[in-house]
Amino acid sequence: MNFTLAHRLNGIEKSLIRQVSDLAGPNAIPLGLGEPSFPTPQPLLEAARKFLEKGHVPYTPNAGLRELRELIAKATGRGIDHNWVCVTVGGQEAIFIAMLALVNLGDDVLIPNPGYPAYRTVAKLLGANIVDLPLRAQNGFSVSAEDVERAVTLKTKLIFLNSPQNPTGAVDSASELQRIAQLIAKRDIWVISDEVYSRIYYGEAPISIARFAEKAIVVDSLSKTFSMTGWRLGWVIAPPELMQHLVALNQNAITCAPTVSQRVAMVALQGAADTAVGEMRDEYRRRREIMMESVKKFVGRPYTEPRGAFYLWLDVSHAVQEYGSTLELAKELVKQKQTVVSPGIGFGSRGEGYLRLSFAAEPEQIREGVKRLGEFLNETV
Ligand code: PMP
Repeated sequence: MNFTLAHRLNGIEKSLIRQVSDLAGPNAIPLGLGEPSFPTPQPLLEAARKFLEKGHVPYTPNAGLRELRELIAKATGRGIDHNWVCVTVGGQEAIFIAMLALVNLGDDVLIPNPGYPAYRTVAKLLGANIVDLPLRAQNGFSVSAEDVERAVTLKTKLIFLNSPQNPTGAVDSASELQRIAQLIAKRDIWVISDEVYSRIYYGEAPISIARFAEKAIVVDSLSKTFSMTGWRLGWVIAPPELMQHLVALNQNAITCAPTVSQRVAMVALQGAADTAVGEMRDEYRRRREIMMESVKKFVGRPYTEPRGAFYLWLDVSHAVQEYGSTLELAKELVKQKQTVVSPGIGFGSRGEGYLRLSFAAEPEQIREGVKRLGEFLNETV
């Protein structure tokens, strides 16, 4: 077909993670995507059924149901009200509208490297100048205020933080977050704090930079905490002066988040599924152990102990030369061993040499997938 695409899409492609997982057949072992294997907790399914039985599913206000916004505000413990909250279609849309509201052509946006690929893609779409915020192995991949200080310029508009972190499982320390908050205080620099894994952690609870910084935007969702990825329900929290603009963007992009998902979110945030959330966290803790043991036994390469989220960051730098990149390595692993993992390069240049293994999969799949990865690496390197 003969047509011209908008210039802003130059260089925007399907994520490398999806490129690998799309090669896999239905029986491949899924250690690639961050997709929890649990069903949505029963009390939430019941809430959805009850609401749908009434048969009337209207729009909600553009910012979402007032009661839901109040519950989200209350859950922060920061003494804020519903005027700080907009309900979105997952954390993903929250990231999108927050960037759309703040970033001008050529603005510097600091993006964790390695980090969640969507930050980079959306920044590129908006014509931002992407500046690496390096996450370093010697810091366990958590953010360092010194690195932020080094990367900030007069053109800096936005800094992305993500704790617990995808892909490394790192959790940022309160002291570094405090120092970053001090660095940006009184400047026209915002922080987007992506907290979609905030309730999945294995040691100390993660802390939000919003406790220290005035210009903080928090992104969260039901997806990971409640195993509700397909319900597409998230939210963005920001000071009311910015929020009114985020709501205008939300209105024009999606009108409102799905009404049934908002109803279910209200029930979830009132605690109806807290038992299930606790059980899932216990199960992630168990799967994390299984994955670390399996990696020691079958792969024998260094890895970062996950402190949050459900990813293990594995060093396979010894094998990269053989394949040219972790993308080719991961593709070959799918072909030869029907096992999907995420190539580190998909998370930024500093991710090269690593694989991200998801332990959101079933324990048996974790054991078998890591075993196959070990065999693959031993056979070929
Ligand atoms: N942020 C991070 C770090 C993620 O890993 C994901 C999903 N994989 C999202 C945001 C978006 O999730 P959702 O839109 O389902 O809330």
